[in-house]
Amino acid sequence: MTQADCIFCHIINGSIPSTKVYEDDQSVAFEDTNPKAPVHYLVVPKQHLASLAQTTPEHDQLLGHLLGVVRKVAEDKGISKSGYKVIQNIGRDGGQVVPHVHFHVLGGQTLIGVT
Ligand code: 5GP
Ligand code: ZN
Repeated sequence: MTQADCIFCHIINGSIPSTKVYEDDQSVAFEDTNPKAPVHYLVVPKQHLASLAQTTPEHDQLLGHLLGVVRKVAEDKGISKSGYKVIQNIGRDGGQVVPHVHFHVLGGQTLIGVT
């Protein structure tokens, strides 16, 4: 399920270019174009889901899968031992700008205090 006006759906289907670092049948990970740390990836489901708040227990397996992808990307990119931050912004007060579920994976330097 994709949404015509969603930036991340376009990245997933390739109509907007991105630097993908991982892909499987349910998810994609790619570099953030405005990185807030030396390492900054976004892990997204291929299914268009506007935010965590729009998911239901039916999506829990997918959400768990996405966290596994976060772990794998962190290992593959060498930030697992040094540590990293995983952020998910939800809705207006959460500061979410792109309405397609995504986990930020940030690392490569000390991120204490970074939000
Ligand atoms: P949010 O504030 O919604 O949690 O984060 C959205 C993120 O998407 C931001 O970190 C922003 O830099 C990133 N972003 C926005 N547009 C694009 C794009 O076209 N390509 C990529 N790779 N990242 C984007
Ligand atoms: Zn989307």
